[in-house]
Amino acid sequence: MTQGTTIFERMSALCRNSDAVNLGQGFPDLPDPPELIEAARRALVDRSNQYPPMRGLAELRAAVCTYYGQTQGLALDPSEVIVTSGATEALAASILALVEPGDEVICVQPLYDAYVPLIERAGGIPVFVDLKPPAWDLDIGALAEAITPRTAMILLNTPNNPTGTMLPRATLEAIGQLAEAYDLIVLCDEVWEGMVFDGTPHISPLAIPSLRQRSVKVSSAGKIFSLTGWKIGWAVAAPELAERIAARHQFLTFTTPTPLQWAVADGLSLGRDWLAAHAARYFLGRRALIKGLTEAGYSLLPASATWFVTVDLAASGFTQEDAVVAERLVSEGGVGSIPVSAFYAQNPQTSYLRLCFCKTAETLTEAVERLARFRVQQSG
Ligand code: PMP
Ligand code: GLN
Repeated sequence: MTQGTTIFERMSALCRNSDAVNLGQGFPDLPDPPELIEAARRALVDRSNQYPPMRGLAELRAAVCTYYGQTQGLALDPSEVIVTSGATEALAASILALVEPGDEVICVQPLYDAYVPLIERAGGIPVFVDLKPPAWDLDIGALAEAITPRTAMILLNTPNNPTGTMLPRATLEAIGQLAEAYDLIVLCDEVWEGMVFDGTPHISPLAIPSLRQRSVKVSSAGKIFSLTGWKIGWAVAAPELAERIAARHQFLTFTTPTPLQWAVADGLSLGRDWLAAHAARYFLGRRALIKGLTEAGYSLLPASATWFVTVDLAASGFTQEDAVVAERLVSEGGVGSIPVSAFYAQNPQTSYLRLCFCKTAETLTEAVERLARFRVQQSG
């Protein structure tokens, strides 16, 4: 999974070429939030288009702190926030800053495709621990066993892409005990923190006292506002860690487009209720896709966050591996998806398919009709 073109790019190209409905790569086709577009217009016309400060606009860094104070009860200082070009650059700067050649980084599978290449680029060695379907629980015993004298970091992703599940507080507290005992850094990718659907609270490692000084929180306005092309993200960490990450960030992208930073600062200031209403727009798509797939005989795994649902292929009557089903689904069924095996570096699960619901009702209705026909063709 570390080489070649990403599965997201490949699946989107296949969909474009074959007129398939793209429920693969996660991007919305709903209208953009007008408040954000207007804020960006204002910023382009009335504010600066020159370099912002290297760590990001003071207004955005303050807005990030207020946002996390309101939504997650975190007490943060703007000196702990570094604005980056998307979560991807925050991950890159963090890994390049905090992983030395020969360090081991414990990675939890399934995992987002950027992690392993970035760790290897830093000279680190990924060590894998697997979540167990169907609940995708993290086995703390297995995590503890993976720790060696060379372990430097644990890389987490909650809410998780692709599973849509979240790490509970008790698991994070247990990780905190291990991190303290073995002096480890926890890097946590939380880009999906704003897309939680069933009332389960998202818990950041920064909310766990034993992890407060040794964790890096990575997130992205692309997900919070459903503007994936804006690529405004950030890394948040205690000052000593933030200092090291900023030193790397300055020679990766140095800064991130100023007008979009203003727009995201304005967007975060819209407040809790606006943000909750924004996320709720996606609830409708989630409900429609789950209902449509269930009625068509698909079996789904439980999930409470992200823009994704997971189809259990074996339980839905499919006998082929996920990558084969995904290829056939796009060419014969006219629907793009992402095989969950693409989220593994080794020993993949091969019986799950990820489908994305951040789409209009029309897109989802068409997709469900095609998926229903495809399943009948398979079993018929
Ligand atoms: N991490 C995860 C888990 C993601 O799903 C994504 C993309 N959706 C990213 C990082 C990348 O975020 P960005 O586009 O802000 O770089
Ligand atoms: N994060 C998006 C997803 O999981 C895609 C990001 C990408 O295309 N690299 O679908």
